[in-house]
Amino acid sequence: MKLLLMGPPGVGKGTQAERIREELNIVHLSTGEILREEVKLQTNIGKEAIQYMDKGKLVSDQILIEIVKERISKKDCHHGYLLDGFPRTLPQAEGLEIMMHSLNHNLDCVISLIANKDELIERLIKRGEEAGRSDDTSNIIRNRQNIYWAQTAPLIDFYHDKGLLIEVDGLGEIPEITQRIINVLP
Ligand code: ADP
Repeated sequence: MKLLLMGPPGVGKGTQAERIREELNIVHLSTGEILREEVKLQTNIGKEAIQYMDKGKLVSDQILIEIVKERISKKDCHHGYLLDGFPRTLPQAEGLEIMMHSLNHNLDCVISLIANKDELIERLIKRGEEAGRSDDTSNIIRNRQNIYWAQTAPLIDFYHDKGLLIEVDGLGEIPEITQRIINVLP
């Protein structure tokens, strides 16, 4: 199973992705996590990326495409993977199509988690306070939300037109949402 999990910041994508990984026994690839690891290790990618991440801006498509291509080419991904946080722009989605095609990978579906904007901003501010994530302060959160609606939301149409999109209500108890997702998988 190869799938994408989409949804606005704060919708609980990361949490659900982990639970689906366990259920389906596939690799969970979070580009946010991969980038945070690069930052921690102070790699060239990390040094470049942090400048954007700290402002709530997107890191360049080229960097992201390279990271994902390298990762999904690895053997452990052959069986299946769930991409979380990628693609976030149309060029990334097109890049993903090309790389998956060249690896002979087939995208099974795209899960889009839906939730109300104000509820999400509230949740993110709370997470920032609890986890001390440097990009979870209110201005930056708003910035990330705006970027989502401007740049990432168009991907919903992109995947809808390909017949791959499945929308799932992202509000409710965590296990309940996981079950909703599992139930709609092809
Ligand atoms: P969230 O889903 O809460 O916005 P992520 O952990 O997915 O956070 O990503 C954190 C940051 O990493 C983003 O705000 C962005 O700067 C960067 N990032 C992650 N994935 C991508 C991507 N596909 N394209 C560009 N930037 C990305």
